[in-house]
Amino acid sequence: MMKRVLTTCPYCGVGCGFYLDVRNERLVGVIPSKSNSVSKGYLCVKGWHAHEPIQHPDRLKKPLIKENGKFKEASWDTALGYVAGRLKEIKDKYGPDALAVCTSARCTNEENFLMMKFARAALGTNNVDHCARTCHVPTVAGLNQSFGSGASTNSYDELPYMDCILIIGSNPTEAHPIAGWRVRSAIDNAAKIIVCDPRKILPAENASVYIQQYPGTDIALINAMIQFIVSEGLHAREFIAKRTEGFDALWEIVKDYTPESVKDITGVEPALIKEAAKLYATSKRSCIMYSLGMTEHTVGTDNVIAMANLSMVCGHVGKEFSGVYPMRGQNNVQGACDMGALPNVYSGYQPVSDEQVRKKFENAWGVTLPAAKGLTLTDMMFKAIEGSLKCFYIIGEDQLRTDPNTHWIEKALDSLEFLVIQEIFLTETARKADVVLPGASFAEKDGTFTCAERRFQRVRKAIEPIAGKTDGQIIYEIAKRLGYPMESDPEKVCAEMASLTPLFRGVSFERLEENGLQWPVYSNEHPGTPVVHLEKFIRGLGKFIPVKHKPPAETPDNEYPFILTTGRMLFHYNTGTMTRRTMNLLREYPRNFVQINPQDAQRLGIKKQEKVRVKTRRGELEVAAEVTDKVKAGVAWMPFHFSDEPTNVLTNNAFDPVCRIAEYKACAARVEKINSL
Ligand code: SF4
Repeated sequence: MMKRVLTTCPYCGVGCGFYLDVRNERLVGVIPSKSNSVSKGYLCVKGWHAHEPIQHPDRLKKPLIKENGKFKEASWDTALGYVAGRLKEIKDKYGPDALAVCTSARCTNEENFLMMKFARAALGTNNVDHCARTCHVPTVAGLNQSFGSGASTNSYDELPYMDCILIIGSNPTEAHPIAGWRVRSAIDNAAKIIVCDPRKILPAENASVYIQQYPGTDIALINAMIQFIVSEGLHAREFIAKRTEGFDALWEIVKDYTPESVKDITGVEPALIKEAAKLYATSKRSCIMYSLGMTEHTVGTDNVIAMANLSMVCGHVGKEFSGVYPMRGQNNVQGACDMGALPNVYSGYQPVSDEQVRKKFENAWGVTLPAAKGLTLTDMMFKAIEGSLKCFYIIGEDQLRTDPNTHWIEKALDSLEFLVIQEIFLTETARKADVVLPGASFAEKDGTFTCAERRFQRVRKAIEPIAGKTDGQIIYEIAKRLGYPMESDPEKVCAEMASLTPLFRGVSFERLEENGLQWPVYSNEHPGTPVVHLEKFIRGLGKFIPVKHKPPAETPDNEYPFILTTGRMLFHYNTGTMTRRTMNLLREYPRNFVQINPQDAQRLGIKKQEKVRVKTRRGELEVAAEVTDKVKAGVAWMPFHFSDEPTNVLTNNAFDPVCRIAEYKACAARVEKINSL
């Protein structure tokens, strides 16, 4: 029996559409959807192979319960009853805030809504968070302060028609390839590209201006661009006067950031900063595209605010063919944020501290809800080590490989009384669990994902869940055993979410059938919103917020003279749980490596592909050296996709004070020739 099921890619936040080919309940291939408005018949190499890991022999098929340090298979009924019993026991003994849940940006919107409802209504805690804490939560915090909404302002369809695209801290060719293809179309249409990145990424080859700033110096760079633009009278005076507030306060800080004054901080020639600033400001259709290179810093929120300032100074936001594009990492990290899988808000960013909002959810859910905001994922780790957090229920996240300073995360997980992991493979984090519940992949469930252009899109079941249940059904079963039955049918969960969420009121499975909908969708008649902040910003006036350069938490010294920065590759995805089980992807890059500049290699006597030791104050790894002028002298770059050689043993668990994201993008490191010791 053959069937072809239209669905949405489970990898990056671009949100490409494809058909899964199914033959006798086996996934046999992927066919791009020509009518999908995001991908228009194109896919990157990960999308083309998205079916391969789903029916891999390593898939978890039975619940596992740990006894005397060893996992034993259990029936669903036994495992679910045990989990519910332990959750209840811990809640009764220590109170609801001794429990926390981590939802998953890999799961559907409906499952994220269910999980945040589970935490709040069934467990009674706002301790709910997800991996946006390690990627784009500064976008939510920063753009929300500046514009009133923490999401992309414009749509992918506008990209090919831009005159100028400023790409900063983002590598669309590798991390968001189909968005990278849209950038390529813009270049073909004669757009000018400005690339600001510590690494000479592929778009830099086609850039009119390439700026290779040191990691962690973006605010100095952006403030200098603003300083030059305003000094030269290139700013959008009318836009600033009519649509914004706080310009004088911004100028008071920014006026001292001349391109000359930031040369030593950024390592960038003033003439290059001026050229980039002029090009961005004077092009008619200019936008900014950024990603984790901007957010994964102790100043991640300020970095985002700096970019919002730059866009408003030039009037390049709040209209078509302009804007700020945060390229979201995971397939549904936008949706997980939107669904309220955050410790301070319900779905649609409705604050838990707002009494009226809380009453609305209490009436709908028939329980009293906690008013104080919960713990962030970062603070859950601190509280676990301190001893006040006793239990963690994690869906679809491998914190031992994704979070900074692996030894610190290990200590946090080891401190818990009870750890439940819901996963499709036995990840490193799952090995630490007391109970492992086998989850379901994107191909085994119905629901929706929301991509980086705020578009809800359908996810459709192609095969039956391999372990027998979807993630939503598992959450439902545990909630039922806790005495709080919830609706678990995805279409009905979507309807419940829409009824409680003004931003998504007009979202329904029926309306998403064709090509999805971009939020806000205020009613059943509302057509969706390709461009936000037209006429006025969601917060009313756009707000200039002055931000100052602060160095990374760790800077190079004699002992650790390199700045280590990390990133993604085309052929792998996050911890590689799926891509390293995809033969065609693993073949391209089977092992971890470090990129260093030829000058550094020569100085240290390191040859191409020689195994070297990379060391930080937190740990060390031995990996092959890739000697390349893609990185500046003094900078080392590593991907983080390799579970056996985990880069995050090196990264720094220093955090942004506002949104608690870690500084993955800059820490002090040493690169050593191994046989010289
Ligand atoms: Fe999937 Fe992203 Fe590649 Fe599109 S660009 S096919 S969403 S991984």
